[in-house]
Amino acid sequence: MQRVALLLLALLLCLTTGVAADPPPGIIALKAARLFDGKSKTLLPNGVVIVEGNTITAAGSNLPVPDEAQIIDLGDATLSPGFMDAHTHLTLDYSGNYNERRLRSLSENISQLALETIPNARATLEAGFTSVRDVGSGFPNSQDFPDVSLRNAINEGIVTGPRMLVATHGIGATGGHFDGTNGYRDMIFGAEPDLTDGIADGADAIRKTVRYEAKNGADVIKAAVSGGVLSLGDEVDVPQLDAAEMAALVDESHRLRKKVAVHCHGDLAAKEAINAGVDSIEHGSFLKPDTLQLMKQKGTYLTPTLMASEYIMGKLSQYPPALQAKAKAATEARSEMFRNALRIGVKISFGTDAAVFPHGQNAKEFALMTGLGMKPFDALLSATSVDAQLLGVADKLGTLEKGKLADVIAMPGDPTADITATERVFFVMKDGKIVKNESKP
Ligand SMILES: [Zn+2]
Repeated sequence: MQRVALLLLALLLCLTTGVAADPPPGIIALKAARLFDGKSKTLLPNGVVIVEGNTITAAGSNLPVPDEAQIIDLGDATLSPGFMDAHTHLTLDYSGNYNERRLRSLSENISQLALETIPNARATLEAGFTSVRDVGSGFPNSQDFPDVSLRNAINEGIVTGPRMLVATHGIGATGGHFDGTNGYRDMIFGAEPDLTDGIADGADAIRKTVRYEAKNGADVIKAAVSGGVLSLGDEVDVPQLDAAEMAALVDESHRLRKKVAVHCHGDLAAKEAINAGVDSIEHGSFLKPDTLQLMKQKGTYLTPTLMASEYIMGKLSQYPPALQAKAKAATEARSEMFRNALRIGVKISFGTDAAVFPHGQNAKEFALMTGLGMKPFDALLSATSVDAQLLGVADKLGTLEKGKLADVIAMPGDPTADITATERVFFVMKDGKIVKNESKP
């Protein structure tokens, strides 16, 4: 009887105070010694960002703070727009021993594989990456769309993670880098992969695959136009799509307002892809100066993913010999390619290939970029406004400005003096909500 009365009282309180409804958005004033706005090559002193609901209403130096605002003073730190990573695979993990991972991905059921993606999303967001482009997903011998599900679960607030633009299955040729049966005994899975696995041959089939992926939730289209490092049956730099296939890929994707990101290590394949009009070349290990010139001329982005080769080279014995040889060749070539790209002035988007290394270590890419000669400000811009342009979200993300969505992070000290500060992000706000705050009170 008493319990019924209590329940009724609780119900009455809910009805009269509107507990079920969202409280009105409060005003938060974030303060720190410095502010990087995501567009200028300077740090403003005494940075202030005013956030109302999920929107930035003001950002700058020494701004007045409204009386009703909750002030969060982050001290000797730098406020920055949330970082972006243009090349992740949140639903995958290749970071352990290659063959052990390969076996596990065949023995675990799909539900378990899907659940294992959840901590990857959280680790990425807590590292300060509030938006990612996720360029290829899927489990062996399964036509599921785990990246679409993860993106949707994050958007609905069920899972904690970054905003995701997803590619569904990477599109590629039979026997190419994205052919999941590559390296296994013929017909071990009972059938050759088809467009439902992203595998297509011929321009019409490529076009249909793009349509199939868009229908199933792709925000961006990813294809492999050359061989890759972590695939067993192909050479790392050989072209894997012909000119007609690439033209169909780009034409159909752009008609559907999807950008095209292509996995490409080889120089010839890159030239053909750039001429076909792709939006970004991922990896680009063997690109020659004249190809980089072509990218500059066409405005094609380069996503260098230095972390991928760096991590593989650090634990080379964990990979089969054929992959070790490919990794060595690609790593030897990529440093000179990156320096040439800087000299020529190619647009460099920040992307890491997270999944090749453990999720959440994305920011280590910054020090690799500056180690090869990129200026710290340019590295920071690449992970903010440059990526926002490549991802097509620059109207609402990538800078700290009035009217943008409130994705704000803070790192200790001055990242332009010590770029590794980017690896110590201690405050993360996404969409106006604080997801991490390790500042001292
Ligand atoms: Zn990748």
